[in-house]
Amino acid sequence: MNVIIFGPPGAGKGTQAARLQEIYGLRHLSTGDMLRAEVASQSELGLKLKSIMDAGQLVSDDIMIELIGNCVSEPDCENGFVLDGFPRTVPQAKALDDMLRHMARKVDHVLVLEVDENALIDRIRTRAAETGGARSDDNEDVLKKRLNEYRAKTAPVLPYFEERDLLRKIDGMQPIEEVSAKIESILGIEPPKKH
Ligand code: ADP
Repeated sequence: MNVIIFGPPGAGKGTQAARLQEIYGLRHLSTGDMLRAEVASQSELGLKLKSIMDAGQLVSDDIMIELIGNCVSEPDCENGFVLDGFPRTVPQAKALDDMLRHMARKVDHVLVLEVDENALIDRIRTRAAETGGARSDDNEDVLKKRLNEYRAKTAPVLPYFEERDLLRKIDGMQPIEEVSAKIESILGIEPPKKH
């Protein structure tokens, strides 16, 4: 099963995707984490990525498509994956479809986490405080730019998948456990047993 988890910055995509990997073995592919690892390596590419990410802008489609293309063809994605942070533009969505088609695979579900913008600002503020500002793009000014990019370039990805009836909207304002339960019911997977 191949899943995309979709939503604005701070919607809780990473939390839910990590859980899907841990409990159900779907490979969690977080483009943000991959890019931050490249930045941490202090490579030449990493330095360029850092300035783009710190400005709240999107990294180019070419770079992102190559990055994800390399991942989804890896053996650890054979049982399925959950994409977190990709596709973020319509060209990325089309490229994803093409690469999966070549592997005789497809996107099975697109989970959309819906969260109020005011709550996003609070969540990012909390994350910055809890992590001691580990992410240099976790501040209010950059968040506003990330949200602008989301509205302009990422939200248009939704109609692309809606046409194929793949979208499942989820109220991301609920507690984490309830969001997880909703995702499990949409994906038709058994919740883990409580002891
Ligand atoms: P967020 O919490 O904003 O969703 P991510 O950790 O997913 O953050 O991504 C952080 C940054 O990495 C983005 O603001 C963007 O600069 C870059 N990025 C991540 N994924 C993509 C993508 N698919 N296309 C372009 N840029 C991306």
